[in-house]
Amino acid sequence: MQQLIERIKRDGVVKPGGVLKVDSFLNHQIDPKLSYDMAKEIHRLFENEDVNKILTIEASGIGMAVLTGLVFDCPVVFAKKSKTINLSDDVYSTTVYSFTHQVSKQVLVSKRYLNPGDRVLIVDDFLANGEAASGAIRLLTEAGASIAGVGILIEKSFQPGRDKLIAQGVDVYSLARVYRLAKGVIEFIPEEC
Ligand code: 5GP
Repeated sequence: MQQLIERIKRDGVVKPGGVLKVDSFLNHQIDPKLSYDMAKEIHRLFENEDVNKILTIEASGIGMAVLTGLVFDCPVVFAKKSKTINLSDDVYSTTVYSFTHQVSKQVLVSKRYLNPGDRVLIVDDFLANGEAASGAIRLLTEAGASIAGVGILIEKSFQPGRDKLIAQGVDVYSLARVYRLAKGVIEFIPEEC
């Protein structure tokens, strides 16, 4: 998606360790117009998939997931990273290694919000090693829900996430695919469609 690529080129900051910082429009301050345009693009890519629910993992994917749910006109579920008193014991859970926090955390979803008949689109801001998306896939498999695909805003194609998801038979679309990050350099794989 050219609009996102241009924005990353303009405002993205390359940090050590293959990290792309996009705090000024996505991960801290959020640009609602760009986010809404990205949600519409994710809808265009998955509109024939009979999606009835969106799933993400807290916290950075939630804003985007909500806008995507607005365009699909369906509920949005986010997996929680801590067990609060409001979350019953009746949960699906799995452990996910966080790329940015560099720790493993249990993620949980109430059994009330994922059901066997659901056809679920996983949405996240970044795809790196595929840990978060694979965790979401495990939750959906445990729930007996079917997976419509994975919609990603920024894929770091030099990391193995995409291959890991494709190997699980899941469709992946990313709005921007970064194949090289170096000091002051952000290079993209050309768009297919
Ligand atoms: P994965 O689970 O695919 O290894 O990493 C994806 C998750 O880690 C995303 O939910 C995102 O929050 C975070 N992440 C991974 N790489 C980056 C990055 O380069 N920049 C930012 N801001 N977040 C990242």
